[in-house]
Amino acid sequence: MTQLDQQRIDALAQAPAPKALNIIDGQTMAADSGQEMVITSPIDGQPLSTLADSSAQDVDRAVAAARRSFEAGVWSAMAPSARKAVLLKWADLIEANALELAVLGVRDNGTDIRTALKGEPTSAAATIRFYAEAIDKRGGEITPTKPDVLSLIHKEPVGVVGAIIPWNFPLMIGAWKVAPALAAGNSVVLKPSEDACLSTLRFVELAHEAGLPPGALNLINGRGPVVGQALGLHMDVDVLAFTGSGAVGRKLMDYAARSNLKRVYLELGGKSPNLVFADAPDLDAAAAQTAASIFRNNGQVCVAASRLAVERSIYDAFLDKVCAHAEALQIGNPLHLNNTTGALANAAQLQKTKDAVALALSEGAELSTGGHALLTDSGGYYHQPTILRDVTPDMSVVQNEVFGPVLAARSFETEDEAIRIANETVFGLSSAVWTSNLSRAHRMIGRIKSGQVHVNCFSGSDVTSPLGGVRQSGNGSDKSLHALEKYENLKAAWIQL
Ligand code: NAD
Repeated sequence: MTQLDQQRIDALAQAPAPKALNIIDGQTMAADSGQEMVITSPIDGQPLSTLADSSAQDVDRAVAAARRSFEAGVWSAMAPSARKAVLLKWADLIEANALELAVLGVRDNGTDIRTALKGEPTSAAATIRFYAEAIDKRGGEITPTKPDVLSLIHKEPVGVVGAIIPWNFPLMIGAWKVAPALAAGNSVVLKPSEDACLSTLRFVELAHEAGLPPGALNLINGRGPVVGQALGLHMDVDVLAFTGSGAVGRKLMDYAARSNLKRVYLELGGKSPNLVFADAPDLDAAAAQTAASIFRNNGQVCVAASRLAVERSIYDAFLDKVCAHAEALQIGNPLHLNNTTGALANAAQLQKTKDAVALALSEGAELSTGGHALLTDSGGYYHQPTILRDVTPDMSVVQNEVFGPVLAARSFETEDEAIRIANETVFGLSSAVWTSNLSRAHRMIGRIKSGQVHVNCFSGSDVTSPLGGVRQSGNGSDKSLHALEKYENLKAAWIQL
């Protein structure tokens, strides 16, 4: 386990940031045009480095490299145990370089270093190990036919996978897609966010150092509407795996419809409800986790429990506890170990947070704590953890994802009302119920429309358990053995004996 040491962090943070170039066919290269974009530090708003401003031609090159490697079988036809060995080595290298990866990522996206170390390299290494270990233990199937026929089901890699990821946890989310796709034998083109591409570059370099053959994993940087669109429209990409906003998710489905009908898996946003009953086993723990579930990484977490509903009899007292946790958070430079919470990832996200708070207040919500940007003299993107109480279903802060440190709270009287609140948005990603009543917990699990229901906890689920949305939070799941199915085709062989 990597130890956190301020001096080591400072030394790593002072090193010049690399340029986020492309890696195609194992070669690190600039965009063909030589164009670059500036990477701005969320810590102080100053230029940090540049990323390749790639074009559709660069995407063609990356997809062609992926296709060549796939058809050549250098990875796809390797014995699963051999693929496993390379992936395990990659996980080891990620862990050996965990602090370097975490610091690079924090300089790029502003996540506090403790969260980044655990959530990024450590989590990515665990995910890669999980799929590496799984792949030589899964086989095809024989179906129960009449005796003169042999019916086989082969699980084949789909071919070329395009993976487009957001800025909040690039290595964790990148690994959720790349690890099962590679383990299953596919070749991948990975497109990180413009706001979190530095650690991803090192992540892909380490894969090659671990022995991944050239072309099996390609990295392409650039603008979403250029590079992401080109991947989405590409005729030679078989599967698109995306995490990001609903607006872009919609576009990807359109790109697939306009090109080769590639499969599109979407992990989108949420407005996850957190329902606290008066009989919760430990209200102090519930309050602490309520605060953590929305304020971790400044609310820039897809499953963030951004809507709190509390049984009326404990509403005021419970909110006081959550406010106390919010006010105890130390916001500031994410590389300083004495800060618990860092910066929002970019200026637009800070503005979005400020606008959401202003609109909620104008619509009649009450401010319990926070409400303002912080440390503006630093030039960075900091905002107070903010709790708005007595919100109503018509308010924008109830219906729309902020992806910032903003909690919308209200009370309820009955279980039915709690369910109505839980299901009142278009989303369905995550949720939580706090109660000592086992029967109620099971009823709620059945009635809440979401991909995940926590009982008496929020988060903490590991790679063995799927993460996916229902309704407008997406389709398909990352994590768990089921994620492999997204990157495989079933081929039936019917053999007359
Ligand atoms: P975003 O949708 O703006 O960007 C995501 C990725 O899509 C980036 O790489 C971006 O460059 C690319 N992109 C942008 N425009 C594109 C286009 N026209 N065509 C193709 N690609 C394009 O999302 P974001 O702001 O980076 O991340 C925040 C969003 O991600 C939030 O909505 C959040 O809830 C969601 N998210 C979901 C999960 C999950 O697992 N469900 C996890 C993390 C984040």
